[in-house]
Amino acid sequence: MYGFYLLKGVLNVLEEIRFSFFRRRLEKNEIQILESKFPYFSRLSEKHKKEFCEKLEIVLSSKKFIGRGGIRVVSAEMEVLIGATIVMVTFGWRRVRMPHFQKILIYPNAYYSTISKSYHRGEVNPKLGIIVVSWNCFLEGMTDENDGVNLGIHEIAHALKLENQIFYNGESEFFNPTIYQRYKMLAAAEIEKIGADEYSFFRKAGGLNEHEFFAVSLENFFERSNEFFEYNPDLYGALVQLLRQDPRVWVK
Ligand SMILES: [Zn+2]
Repeated sequence: MYGFYLLKGVLNVLEEIRFSFFRRRLEKNEIQILESKFPYFSRLSEKHKKEFCEKLEIVLSSKKFIGRGGIRVVSAEMEVLIGATIVMVTFGWRRVRMPHFQKILIYPNAYYSTISKSYHRGEVNPKLGIIVVSWNCFLEGMTDENDGVNLGIHEIAHALKLENQIFYNGESEFFNPTIYQRYKMLAAAEIEKIGADEYSFFRKAGGLNEHEFFAVSLENFFERSNEFFEYNPDLYGALVQLLRQDPRVWVK
């Protein structure tokens, strides 16, 4: 296993070099999609917009977007908006782009999983390095940008947490261990509150386990930053340090 991840790490570095030379460039209409449909981007300064676009180009060059369940052609909008969500969540790190997750599968609607024998809106498969989203649910999550429910952020948060656990992927241990411990301690208190049916800022799904809570807390971190900060400044502050960014800066 050690050798496998070491090899994977070397391959990732080589890929990194390749993508910086042969990068898929964003078209004008794609930047327009970001400006009109991705509020986080439209609020950035010109300098940060440039950085965001560069990172997005690398994400789009290095991941395969595959349509499933009737989606024959993956549109530019799908690639740009899903890619932008990855860039947003990882914007605090210049180089982190989650290389372990190379494939993004896109279903039109909630899809039936033969493994869990139930309908899914999205999921992450660390064994195969796949992130799955249903496009309808992804868009629904983006419609209300202040409700703290966003499928894209949710699934990418799951992937990010897993990516951090995978050693020798060239990006290992990008979560600062001390800050991560602090976050986990504060998160456990919230999970307990949800479990005890006490009032919590976070929705019930976050109380299931630490993985779900991480995903739900990131949805709120990006969508309801000010409210989250007011509710629990320590937990919010731990996430600012962990993700190395504070979305409140961009919120108008
Ligand atoms: Zn989840």
